[in-house]
Order: sequence, then C-alpha cells, then structure tokens
Amino acid sequence: VMDDKTRRILFTLLQNNKLKAMEGCVSTGKEANVYLGLGAEEEDVAIKVYKTGVLQFKDRDRYVEGDRRFQGVCLSNSRKMVKAWAEKEYRNLNRMVNCGLFAPQPMILKEHIVVMSLIGKGSKAAPRLKDAAPSLNPARLTKVYWSLVRALRRMYHCANLVHGDLSEYNILYHDKKLAIIDVSQAVERTHINADYFLRVDCKNMTAFFYKKGVQTLTPAALRECIMSPMPEQPDFEGATDIAEGAKPVTDACSGTGPAGFVRQYEIDHIKEVRTTVREAFEKDFNAECVALEDALDDRSWLGEAEIVSLEELDPEYVMGEGCM
Ligand code: ADP
Ligand code: MG
Repeated sequence: VMDDKTRRILFTLLQNNKLKAMEGCVSTGKEANVYLGLGAEEEDVAIKVYKTGVLQFKDRDRYVEGDRRFQGVCLSNSRKMVKAWAEKEYRNLNRMVNCGLFAPQPMILKEHIVVMSLIGKGSKAAPRLKDAAPSLNPARLTKVYWSLVRALRRMYHCANLVHGDLSEYNILYHDKKLAIIDVSQAVERTHINADYFLRVDCKNMTAFFYKKGVQTLTPAALRECIMSPMPEQPDFEGATDIAEGAKPVTDACSGTGPAGFVRQYEIDHIKEVRTTVREAFEKDFNAECVALEDALDDRSWLGEAEIVSLEELDPEYVMGEGCM
C-alpha cells in the first residue's frame, strides 16, 4: 500500500545505493508509515514515509502557522504540505542531534520521505517508553523520569524546540537511554503557541510517570524546570537553523556545578512537591472512583490562571491565511 511516487523515490534511492535494502514495517500511523532498512553503509535505518492524504493534516495548521520555516508553503496543497512536514522533521532531528540529544540522526530527505538512523539494535527497533515501562522497576523509572527532564531542558534551551506531541509513544527506550522522536510538529520556543504545547507536553509526561508511581514534579514545576535559564549561560541563544551542522553542543545545557542544574532541582524541589502532585490529582477528583484518563481531560492541570484553550489562541495563527 504505497503510492507510485513513493515507490519511485524509494526505488531510485535503492538504485543509487543510498539505501541498500528496505525491510519490514515498524509502524503504520495516521500520518506516516515507518519501515526498517539498510543505509549506504549497511547500517540500520528507519524510513519514515509521510502519508499524502489531505485529511490527516487537517489539525496541523496551528503548528505550522507562526513558524518562519514554513513561510511560503501553501497550506492547502497536501503534497507540498507533507513535504514540508518531512523537511521539518529532518531539520528538527538535526538540531537535536547537534545539541547532543539522543535522537535519530537524519540522513536523507527526499520529498515526503525521511531516512534516519534506527534507534535499536540488530534490525530491531527499540520499544516505545510505553512498552518498555512495565518491565522497569521504580528506581529505574525514576532515573528515566529525571533523564527526560534533562533532555527536555536541553531540547528547549539548546535546540530551541518545544516538542508539541510528547508522550510515551514518541519516546523510545534503548540501552537505558531515552530517544525523543517524531518531531515534525515541534516548534521553536518563540512560536506563538509554544507555551501551550509545552504545558500540554508537561502535563502528559507527568501523568504518565505519576501513574507509574514515580514521584514527579507537578506539571507546572516541570515546565518551570525546563524553562529556567542556564545557570552559567543566561544569554544562551539556542540553536538556529544556521547552527545546524555545527559541532555538538556537549555540556552547555546540563548545567554546571557538582550536581548540575536538574539534579539540584531534584534535590530542592522534589520534597516539597512530592505531596503536591498527589494532591493535584486528588483535590479535584476522587482518585478512588475517577479514572485518571478523565482527570487528564480537565484543564485544571494547567493551573487556574494559566488555562489556555485552543480557541483562545490567536485566531490569526489558528486560521492561517490560506493560499492561492
Ligand atoms: P507517527 O507517530 O507520526 O506515525 P513516529 O515518528 O512516531 O511517527 O514513528 C512511529 C513509530 O515508528 C514509533 O513509535 C517508533 O516505534 C517507530 N520509529 C520511528 N522512528 C524510529 C527510529 N528512528 N528508530 C526506531 N523506531 C522508530
Ligand atoms: Mg509518533
């Protein structure tokens, strides 16, 4: 089930030895299919093929509008649009890798197809955090949680990105490390809706780890931790596209000092917020009888004064201008 154009592009890549092989399917999603393959050096790769139907991308305008990297892209032309998503994924992954984050290394961008390094081993994709978590013990999960906090902080300050669709489905667990994937919708920190996306990301990740029994920060504290300026480099500008291809920024984001910024955060804040997280769950909902999933729909997670609904977002950005 692959359209002719996709087939042609893949065939050409194979003929030119940019790809050595294309193997089984890792995932069929709403917006993309991901296949296993072998790259030019016979290394394992993931081949992400965006779907070109119109409907899949209907609700994506809010990510694209306001992103200068999408200027000039016709939003109602699905083929161009999908191509733009692929390009954005490629560029965002590149930024992340350049910032020293564990993420797939993008290798080839061709129309609506992105070839990237496989997170995994021996032609086997690593499990998603969702699937890996049940076999991790509480101590390990707590470590995983704090390493995610570090990664998100680095993603925010170094790569200059807010994920926007972060969940246990878009994080892979490999070699005891987390790889953040699926970043075509990630936006720059300065994007008009970036703060909304960051709140939602923080809420979703907190809920996931909280349900697993990890003593997490509250969503608001997590956001604060991610956003807090670098102790040593308050003026750190973050990555731009110009910086892509630059050397990895190794330690600029992990903070300095004996413990590092996030570790210090852990020490200072975890005690006081430990009960707050539970209270946040139990205050508004009787945890005994209300399913957590229902609780998560409630915007009170975003904080009383901080509630933002999509409808409240700047309508100009939500609606877009359309194009000829
Ligand atoms: P979408 O969610 O838009 O369909 P993703 O980028 O999340 O696309 O990829 C879908 C799934 O494919 C992931 O959940 C993961 O299991 C797998 N996957 C994607 N990229 C990689 C990669 N580089 N290495 C290993 N597995 C991957
Ligand atoms: Mg995904």
